Amino acid sequence: MNKTPHANRFHIGIYGNRNAGKSSLFNAIIGQDIAVVSEVEGTTTDPVFKAMELIPFGPVVFIDTAGLDDEGLLGDLRVEKSKKMLSRTDFAIYLVDGAAPDVQEYKAMTGTFKKYGIPFMCVVNKADLLNEIQKQAIRSNFGDVTFVSTQVMTDIHELNQKLMSQLTKIEEEPVIVGDLLPYGSTVVLVVPIDSEAPKGRIILPQVQLIRDCLDHGIKSYVVRDTELEVALKELPKVDLVVTDSQAFGAVSKIVPEHIKLTSFSILFARQKGDIKSLIEGVDAFKALKPNAKILISESCTHNHSHEDIGRVKIPNLIRNKISDQVEITFSMGHDFPENPNAFDLIIHCGACMMNRKSMQTRIDLCENQKVYITNYGLALAYFNGILERSVEILNL
Ligand code: SF4
Repeated sequence: MNKTPHANRFHIGIYGNRNAGKSSLFNAIIGQDIAVVSEVEGTTTDPVFKAMELIPFGPVVFIDTAGLDDEGLLGDLRVEKSKKMLSRTDFAIYLVDGAAPDVQEYKAMTGTFKKYGIPFMCVVNKADLLNEIQKQAIRSNFGDVTFVSTQVMTDIHELNQKLMSQLTKIEEEPVIVGDLLPYGSTVVLVVPIDSEAPKGRIILPQVQLIRDCLDHGIKSYVVRDTELEVALKELPKVDLVVTDSQAFGAVSKIVPEHIKLTSFSILFARQKGDIKSLIEGVDAFKALKPNAKILISESCTHNHSHEDIGRVKIPNLIRNKISDQVEITFSMGHDFPENPNAFDLIIHCGACMMNRKSMQTRIDLCENQKVYITNYGLALAYFNGILERSVEILNL
């Protein structure tokens, strides 16, 4: 289970002021001394991540963040980093220092949670130092809270139970293809094995799609583009062909019109965020000026299989079909601009390494700033003249 990719894990962020005991709580919940704990304020500098199985909820990642009341130049940077974690947080635990409850910071932060649409719970630490009157005063200022003491380890089990009951109310990440096809359907996955393919393995989106098919009783067959035609003749009935977007042009010529066709990137775009916004984003291509500014954004920094598509193929298509004056910028990993309106269009990768929360935050940011955003698969489908066909399976 520890092999579950981070993107598929539910992200639980622990926020609060310095010295509230966030790292101690983090260690108490996960039952290990991962985060460094000390009496010195601001011990946690960069966010600490810990993936674990939260039984019976499932795979999660806990994020221990730096104090939100940190000061000075470095402190401001640490606060900035903690706040950046919000875009990846599916659920937040706000930890109050019971010995120094800061209701103003709590109110500011809960406003931020609401802005990002993050469900949260409030936990008060150092309960061993509080009498009943002090607890009552905290309740009247902070509302529904859970008291714990990470010092003497009281009520951690109750906190875990409460956390579990809150988490189970939260909607699960949508499936990849299992809700689009009935049980027993047949899907052919086209995986070109060219110089871009990593040696000895297939990449995460391909693995995840195969697993999704298995989970839903969908028969999946994996072929290279060079064997696709023969495979389609041999198989009695094929409901869907899913190809690497790079092969859209060639594959669309092989797959007969009565068989639906899409790409890994498009299926992931639907799983990771509002696909309708990304489809609308394709409209930007029709109106781009020759000196337009485009950002190509990839969510991971290490996967070479997309180097060609993001760094070469899509830029070449843009320069050929729109203008060679178009200014193209690249961003990788978590470096997504806070002001995407510096661009006329964002073209995003399939985001298989991101959780839905992070990708949807990017889409929302673009929508708020009225910037078009689309994705690799949709852009390539558009340039190959098969946009409508490639999204037919999505039943929009
Ligand atoms: S670049 Fe994007 S789609 Fe490709 S592997 Fe990384 S996260 Fe997944």
